[in-house]
Amino acid sequence: MDTLIVGAGFAGAVTARELAEAGERVLVIDKRPHIAGNAYDRLDAGGVLIHEYGPHIFHTNSEKVFDWLSRFTAWRPYEHRVLAVPDARTGQAYPMPINRTTINRLYGLDLDEAGVAAFLERVREPREPLRTSEDVVLNSVGPDLCDRFFRGYTRKQWGLELSQLAGGVAARIPTRTNDDDRYFTDRFQAMPAHGYTAMFERMLDHPNISVRTGVAYENIVASCDCRRTVFTGPVDEYYGHRYGALPYRSLRFEHEHLPGQANVQAVGTVNYPNDHAWTRITEFKHLTGQRHAGTSIVREIPQAMDAPGAEPYYPIPNPANEALYKRYQALAEAESDVFFLGRLAQYRYYNMDQVVAAALALTQRLRQGAEALAA
Ligand code: FAD
Ligand code: UDP
Repeated sequence: MDTLIVGAGFAGAVTARELAEAGERVLVIDKRPHIAGNAYDRLDAGGVLIHEYGPHIFHTNSEKVFDWLSRFTAWRPYEHRVLAVPDARTGQAYPMPINRTTINRLYGLDLDEAGVAAFLERVREPREPLRTSEDVVLNSVGPDLCDRFFRGYTRKQWGLELSQLAGGVAARIPTRTNDDDRYFTDRFQAMPAHGYTAMFERMLDHPNISVRTGVAYENIVASCDCRRTVFTGPVDEYYGHRYGALPYRSLRFEHEHLPGQANVQAVGTVNYPNDHAWTRITEFKHLTGQRHAGTSIVREIPQAMDAPGAEPYYPIPNPANEALYKRYQALAEAESDVFFLGRLAQYRYYNMDQVVAAALALTQRLRQGAEALAA
């Protein structure tokens, strides 16, 4: 084998395919019993296609990324919509991100776009610089909307206050003065027509690629004679937590199949910022377009990494954690034949398309390096 790839998620699978097509022999391992990493989907016992590790909606502005993945899947156009229920007692649902409808419905107003812009100008608390997520939210929508839609959700999701998180976290969610109620506005928004796992099967189906699932790096490293490693697991774990554990946030996914009901909610995801232990409920049929007499949902219940069986799902962006990551990054950059790639290995709050782009950039670098050596 030329390259050992640790992890069969987007980072590992894209890298494997690119290196295989360049003529390298590649071994991909994953400690889980399946490929596709956190994007893994499967039919549940009721026959509904579900995302095991929470809802994954593909969106990108990168034509290059979309074209690359399109070699391995057809697509189903899908624009994600989210409603938020700030008070479960009334059950009133409002579009999220906050838009014109949200504001008019919440405050009993009938503002046009300019009216909403003026309203936001009145209620916002200008902040400079926008350092924390609290700065970002107060600066755009002010304290009341912050309390209803962001403060409680963030406390649940991260176990931290908005003021303890980098601005980039809340900045993922825009504020709109128009009626656009889509969660994302990217140029390409679509779901793999036959699911993510099927797309990964095709990506990894190449004579130069071997895949072994249920195999952890620590159990294979001594017997593997690969000249290069691409590691997509947690970078601090690779280094035996030498500088201490990097903080990650975990989730528990509570899946449920509802046999007699065709649909349970109006949109793909409903957020619950202030009530319940879960942050959101997703009903998969909206995402996948599957027709079925029953339906399946997942509740996402955030948990700390010390919960039994907790897996790391989110790096936690704030200055202290980024400083700790920088120490691990310095170790990683000093390696000559180990490369760290992906959400856990680069400790970045990456979306799927960003991981694909990072993998394409890394493999291009590796291929150029190999050509330079051969020349
Ligand atoms: P992963 O998918 O985590 O793959 C890493 C793999 O490495 C894992 O399978 C793991 O088992 C394996 N591994 C780790 N350590 C070892 C080891 N020591 N030995 C062997 N194997 C190991 N992105 C979007 O674009 N849209 C969304 O809607 C979206 N929703 C999300 C919802 C949730 C709840 C979560 C958690 C993430 C979501 N994401 C979404 C982000 C998306 O999951 C990631 O960007 C992407 O999956 C990261 O790919 P990766 O290959 O870096 O990591
Ligand atoms: N957020 C919030 N209320 C919401 C939606 C999002 O407070 O209704 C905040 C919260 O801190 C969340 C962040 O914005 O973690 C990013 O939201 P996103 O939906 O992008 O999170 P992901 O899908 O990555 O979990």
